[in-house]
Amino acid sequence: MEEWKIQPRGSACSVCRRPFEARETCHTVLTLRAGQFLREDLCAPCWQGQGGGEVRARVGVVSLWQGGFEPPEAPPPDPLPHQDAESILRRMMERNSPEEAEARYLLAVMLERKRVFRHRETRQGETPLLVYEHAGTGEAFLIHDPRLRLDQLDAVQQRVSAMLDGGGVGAKA
Ligand SMILES: [Zn+2]
Repeated sequence: MEEWKIQPRGSACSVCRRPFEARETCHTVLTLRAGQFLREDLCAPCWQGQGGGEVRARVGVVSLWQGGFEPPEAPPPDPLPHQDAESILRRMMERNSPEEAEARYLLAVMLERKRVFRHRETRQGETPLLVYEHAGTGEAFLIHDPRLRLDQLDAVQQRVSAMLDGGGVGAKA
């Protein structure tokens, strides 16, 4: 089974190890190898040195994108049992439980609407894979689209609403 760990952004280039400077263009490559996701963040010269956009053709490459480097905010410490969409999703990513696939997907879509997540890519397949980047921390979140049928959507939405404080926070938006 694949490991769906959250992938933090590197503070230095994966190839030359030079620390990124603020707003420097940084290229991110996600690769799946032996069931594990590997994230690399490359500076522009190293990216060119690896063939630039040709990297996509490499075996195992799942997604790539570029963005301006921002010094990452630390992921929020979680001493209190917050029940907002982001904390719930982070705990679900830890558990990586197949039964929560639909709820993970719904929470990710909610976070995209709130612009907490940037949608980077959708990989088509039997179960499409959505690649999101956290706008604040630069972490990558990989979420399967479970292709919910309309008649399933309501039940999942109700389950997710029940997990959120006050049953709301845009669950029905
Ligand atoms: Zn480099």
